[in-house]
This record gives sequence, C-alpha cells and structure tokens, in this order.
Amino acid sequence: MKATLGCGTVWLCAVLFTAGAATHSAGLSAPEQAALERISADSLRGNLSFLASDALEGRGTPSRGLDVAAEFIAAQFRKAGLEPIGKDGSYFQTAKLLRVTPNLEGFQLTLRDGGDELELPAGDIRVRSVAAVDFRDAAVVRLPEASEGGGVPAIRDKVVAGSMRRYGTEAALFKLQAERPALILLIGRSRERAEESWLEERDAANAPVIRVTSEAVADALGEHRELRVSVHVAAPRTEAVVARNVGGILRGADAALRDQYVLVTAHYDHLGLLPEGSPDRVYNGANDNGSGTVSVVEIAAALATLPVHPRRSVMFLALYGEEEGLLGAFYYTRHPVEPLRDTVADINLEQLGRTDEQSGAQVGSFSFTGPSYSNLPALMEDAAKQEGVKVYAKRGADAYFDRSDNYAFALAGVVAHTIVVAYEFPDYHAAGDEWQKIDYPNMAKVDCGVAAGVIGIANRAERPGWSDAKEAAVYRGARK
Ligand SMILES: [Zn+2]
Repeated sequence: MKATLGCGTVWLCAVLFTAGAATHSAGLSAPEQAALERISADSLRGNLSFLASDALEGRGTPSRGLDVAAEFIAAQFRKAGLEPIGKDGSYFQTAKLLRVTPNLEGFQLTLRDGGDELELPAGDIRVRSVAAVDFRDAAVVRLPEASEGGGVPAIRDKVVAGSMRRYGTEAALFKLQAERPALILLIGRSRERAEESWLEERDAANAPVIRVTSEAVADALGEHRELRVSVHVAAPRTEAVVARNVGGILRGADAALRDQYVLVTAHYDHLGLLPEGSPDRVYNGANDNGSGTVSVVEIAAALATLPVHPRRSVMFLALYGEEEGLLGAFYYTRHPVEPLRDTVADINLEQLGRTDEQSGAQVGSFSFTGPSYSNLPALMEDAAKQEGVKVYAKRGADAYFDRSDNYAFALAGVVAHTIVVAYEFPDYHAAGDEWQKIDYPNMAKVDCGVAAGVIGIANRAERPGWSDAKEAAVYRGARK
C-alpha cells in the first residue's frame, strides 16, 4: 500500500513550485520556500529510528525511555537555536505528578432512599481520588440528563450524581470539576479496571470521582428519588513522579505580533512495554506518535533557518502523557508558558508517517479533526496546496477531535486541531508500529505542506477563529 514518489531519498518541497517561488505564484517568499526545502526524508528517518528504537522502551509516561526522548528533543531544539521555554533556561516544563493506585480495602458505599438501603459491592465501582473519601449520610444532588435541558444546579461542596453518558466525558468532567463539588458519582459502565493506577497532578484540587455500575442506582436516579450517600474509601497508594513537556520558541519578527503564539505540538509518549513473555515487548510507537514528534523537530529546524522569522512567535512543543489521557496538554493549559489569550492556535500533529489509512491510501495528503469547527483548516489547506499537498476530508473526522492533545487546548478556548495522515492503520497501538514501516518521502512532503500552513497562520494579520458550527460552541465560549 505504500506509495513511491520516485524522487530518490531526498525529497524537495514543492518541486513543481521551485520556479514558481521566483515568480511569486506561490504564497511563500523565496527565503520561506528555501527554508521548507530543508525538510528532509533522511533527517526524519534518522531521528525516528532513534525515538522509536527498542532502547527507548516504548516511551511510557513516566519512564526512563520518555526521559531520554525528552533530552533528544531538547537537544534538537538547542541545535536549531530556538529559545527555551523554561524560566531556568531549559527546554523543559516539568510536571510534578502522583501515580495513584486505588486501595479498596474496607470500601463501603451505601445509598439510602427513605427507608430503602442499597449497599454497593467494591466490584461495581471505580474510584479516582488522591486521598481517603469519607461521607456520612450526605444529600445527593442529581445532575440533569441532556433530554431534560437546563443547566447544572449549584453544586459547590455538594455530592453530585449523574449519568456516565452525559457527565463521564473528559470535557463534561472538566466543567463539573470547575464548579468544585465535594464528590462526583457517575452512574453507568466504565472501561477502567478496579485496581488500575493512574496519574494526576500533585497539586490538582479535583473532587474524588466514583464510577458506579449498578442498574439499581441508575433506576433510583432516573426516578428522581431523594438519595443520601455514605462512603468510605481508604487512602490510595501514591508515588511521586515527574514528566516533562519539551518546548522551544521561534521568536516572531513583528513587534506588534511577536507576543502572540502559534503552537505546533505532538505527543512524544507512547504505551511503554508489553508484559514480560510477549514475543516483542516494545510498543515502539513509530507512527503514533514518533512521526508527529520528528515532524515538529524537522519543521522547527527548517523555520529556524529563516533570515526573517514569521511575524508571530511559533512555539514548538512535544507533550508527555497523551496516551494516559492528554495529560501533558492539560498540564500545559493549566500552567501555560505564555498566556492562552495570546495563543492564537494549536496545530497538533499525529500519525503522519504511514499512508495505509484504513479508508484508503492517503498519499501526498493530510486531514484535520473537527474540520468545520474553525477557519484554520481552510487557511492551512490553501498554503499546503501551494506545496502540492492536498487536504482530504476524513469521514467522521469530528469523532477524532477529542482523541488527541488539540482537545485540551480547544477546551481552553484556543483554536486547535489535529492533523493526521492515517487515522486507523495496521499496527495501531500494537508492537508492530515500527520505524521501518514509515513512508519518509511522503512524510517530508506532508511536513512541507504543514510548515507552509504554519508560516501562513503566523504571518496572517487576523488570528484564526472558531466557526459558528454548533459543535464548536463550547470551545468558542471558553475563549480567553
Ligand atoms: Zn497518538
């Protein structure tokens, strides 16, 4: 299924347009076009063969392999001459995290409805709390279902209960937590395992979340009965760990616009190691998302050679913990290096290296998640076209909008999309996602198209904006 471009090992951007640049038929200046031509398949291959090697042990969050990857990315930013994002002069943003393992010993959860009592077995619940949870006969505030309309009632310091379907998504929980309830009960099916450990920011002040799989509770809630709850959950086991986002800034050339930022992001973590005894123990994550990571590095290095930088500043950022729930991206939005209101876009790169997309091979093209949510995709499409790169519409692309790091930025109001070549590909989240299977000439071409779009967004007088699409309302409303 791989495509051959027939251009040898070194692929040059916009072969068709190298003459065009001189005659100004392309959108970019001659020096900008020259910078893009530094994007090289060989360089991408060299970097990815290291990041996705077995030596990095699948770059789980946190792990030694992830740390080595972070050092490598920082070294590339240093080599390119980008400004470090860290106040200490380093390229790192270090997140202090806790690895939390639930302790269900002595667990108790009793719901009372008048005289009726319902005691839930530990097997029916999943707990996320960094501390012990103790409530005695507390009133439960019922959260409305979508069909009932109306907003969420005042819930500060209250115990609240709602359906997993309506309130279990990342976005819904994010909004609920902002209202500072004392405890969140979610009723419905959960994919989590009871004793599974998870990562949380050490200084996060989130309310405990208890997911309850019980028809009886769902029924009681549906019947609007007045519920009271008693809970005891023991303190979990916790371990302090750290993980790092890695970032560098290409300072903008325009005095009026250089304090605005275009983010170019990719997650550099993956799934770590398979259990002992597996024939191949390493989740190499070459396409997911070594490909996005080396593309960020490659585009950064190319744009850093520009004699005159783009008007806005461009921040190149490699994020940890995407596979654990967009952790690095959420961390950044809670601790932004530069103000979010001055962050005009996040262009997030995922799975750019393979063309064997399930719905049909994608050669010389890429796609956006949530393409109708803002005007950024159309703006970038025009720029990419000048480099001979097409933008294709992936069927159901909206459903992928919340499946990568762009989503955390969107929830913070920043116009944010993920660019993808192959959404579903053989070896997805499997040990066989190896660097030898990447189409490097095609990735170089795609990166040229993306880089042209980044330059366009960074130079454009107006910043990109959310559209009037109904689905974009929540992000529009979150704009800083
Ligand atoms: Zn990914």
